[in-house]
Amino acid sequence: MKHQMSKIIALVGNPNSGKTTLFNALTGANHHVGNWPGVTVERKEGQFRFGGDVYTVVDLPGIYSLGAFSEDEMVARDFILSGEPDVVINVVDATNIERNLYLTTQLLEMGAKVVVALNMVDEASSLSMSFDTETLAKRLGAPVVPTVASKRKGLDDLVAKAVELMQASPQGRKQPLSYGESVDVQVTRLQEVLAGKKLAYPERWVAVKLLEGDAHVRSMVQASLTSHELQEFERVYSELAAHGSDLALEIVDGRYRFVHSVTNGAVNRPKEQVLTLTDHLDRVLTHKYWGLPLFALIMFTVFQLTFALGQDVFGEWVAEGVGLVGGALDGLLLRMNAPEWLRAYTAEGLVGGVGAVLEFIPLIVILYTLMGLLEDSGYMARAAYVMDNTMRSVGLQGKTFVPLIVGFGCNVPGVMATRTLENRRDRMIAILINPFMSCGAKIPIYLAFIAAFFPAHGAVVMFSLYVLGILVALLMGKILGNTLFKGEVSHFLMELPPYRIPTIRNVVRNMWDNVAGFLVRAGTVIFLVISLLWVLAVLPGGVEPYGSESVLGRIGTLIAPIFAPAGFGNWQASVGLFSGIAAKEAVVATLGMVYAGVEEGVELISALQGAFTPLTALSFMIMTLLYTPCVATLATIRKETGSAKWALFSAIYSFGIGWLGAVLVFQVGRLLGVG
Ligand code: GDP
Ligand code: MG
Repeated sequence: MKHQMSKIIALVGNPNSGKTTLFNALTGANHHVGNWPGVTVERKEGQFRFGGDVYTVVDLPGIYSLGAFSEDEMVARDFILSGEPDVVINVVDATNIERNLYLTTQLLEMGAKVVVALNMVDEASSLSMSFDTETLAKRLGAPVVPTVASKRKGLDDLVAKAVELMQASPQGRKQPLSYGESVDVQVTRLQEVLAGKKLAYPERWVAVKLLEGDAHVRSMVQASLTSHELQEFERVYSELAAHGSDLALEIVDGRYRFVHSVTNGAVNRPKEQVLTLTDHLDRVLTHKYWGLPLFALIMFTVFQLTFALGQDVFGEWVAEGVGLVGGALDGLLLRMNAPEWLRAYTAEGLVGGVGAVLEFIPLIVILYTLMGLLEDSGYMARAAYVMDNTMRSVGLQGKTFVPLIVGFGCNVPGVMATRTLENRRDRMIAILINPFMSCGAKIPIYLAFIAAFFPAHGAVVMFSLYVLGILVALLMGKILGNTLFKGEVSHFLMELPPYRIPTIRNVVRNMWDNVAGFLVRAGTVIFLVISLLWVLAVLPGGVEPYGSESVLGRIGTLIAPIFAPAGFGNWQASVGLFSGIAAKEAVVATLGMVYAGVEEGVELISALQGAFTPLTALSFMIMTLLYTPCVATLATIRKETGSAKWALFSAIYSFGIGWLGAVLVFQVGRLLGVG
């Protein structure tokens, strides 16, 4: 089990306590840091050197406790219990020390070697809080090191303490934590029954978990006892279980009493609560009535700025750049006496197709920089908070909005972010509605059609598409919740981090995450799809390339009637939509190629103007917003739901919804005499 190579350090802590920041600071990695809970849902590994040795750090999802309620808690707990980590660095948000120490208590109960990183002491001291770390450490029985992860302060000391503890003999609290006499008696009793049995975990911890009613631990125990031992165990357990929830509550109480006894006198905060800037801002931004309209206004401003900056600052230079590169490539091929087909492939497939996608990069950079600012400042957490009421009114919990916001970047992490949801019902719904979010890959499609038909109203169109995606997601959430996934709405309290001045490092990193994904797809999936389609478009020999008689044209013509009721029944559009299932940008790349092929030097924009009308452009954008997710998302849905059936379901039902939406818009528009 253990890596032989290097010692392992696990980072454990509440969401938003600074684990990923610490991880990045230690390892030099570049993982997504966000000022809101629920950003890291997988464990991530990295390495660093200290004193000539290499250590492996594992960044775990943020958790509040070590129960077994949600998948991310299980990931963290299993990893710690596996015995793999040689030491646990427990990252504690100093401004919320009492609540954070609840988890610390549970880590200590597990017998883990724990070093507490008392993080965000900069914020704590600006709130006039102070800490007696020596006393805290003595009472906890674990080293406590003050840190400011975002400024890399205290990290050497922290690592030194962790390494020291790693080498120490097994820690073991001298005195086990007491949960009050009545509980302690029962714990001891169960512990006696379990004594000497081959359990993978410390007996006392197992006993406490059993009394808390932990089903996972129970089945683990049942599996590791002989039938005789099991009888004995079940007898004692059923007696104790009669006390049921009382015991579980007393155990929780016991932990809080312990936390209080640790902090009492060692944590000082001002007598009078001062209203912070965060409090003032939140009075407005999370206001009962104003919160939602303000969220809409902020998003609208983001789009407005994106278009204003994108057009005025960057203007045409990327398009010109792509044109120049295309010209240079062609000149080069000409000089090398390259065969005619290679020149055609380069001009039509690479420059016309893949190049068409790259032209939109400046706008995407701006959009994601602005979104990154909102995220790192802590505003995105408020967005989920103000959506809570709306979500609840359609039978979803507010927390389901968090994966939806992640989906604005890309649906793959969006679907993965549903792991923070506790029950399967909420999670399945959140997974199935995630693809309705406008992910980054759909943006080039919108931008191309906006440039062709609505150049003066870019922000309005983008904003409307984003809102429509959210509305459809809510509607489908309601329908799914009343049909396939009936059940109670679970409750949730969104924890709001303080507002922070966004750091350039985080904003640029998050923006780059999205842009890099974009570039990688352009160089892989889209490149492959375009190459394949190019071959189909020029075959068979003898017919007009890109004509309706080419293989591609025939395939497109076969599919096209499906989309006739939506107004875009030309074969090119159909082929574009289908290639978009490989990756959404491929829609634009395909359209770019098929039009670049027909007529030398035809710009995608003017080709679109010839093939679509404003109305069919709108219905086409709605189709691309809602229809079948890309294969990467479908694969993630399969993995996260554990069944190919749900991926297939997602593919088919969203296709149906996209089609319905597009047809509806087109037909209503026609009745109204638009287009
Ligand atoms: P995680 O959810 O525990 O992984 O937390 P992150 O590493 O994503 O950090 C959450 C937020 O806290 C980010 O906005 C960080 O920039 C910020 N942050 C992390 N450590 C510190 C710190 O020591 N001081 C301050 N002021 N901010 C911090
Ligand atoms: Mg994190």
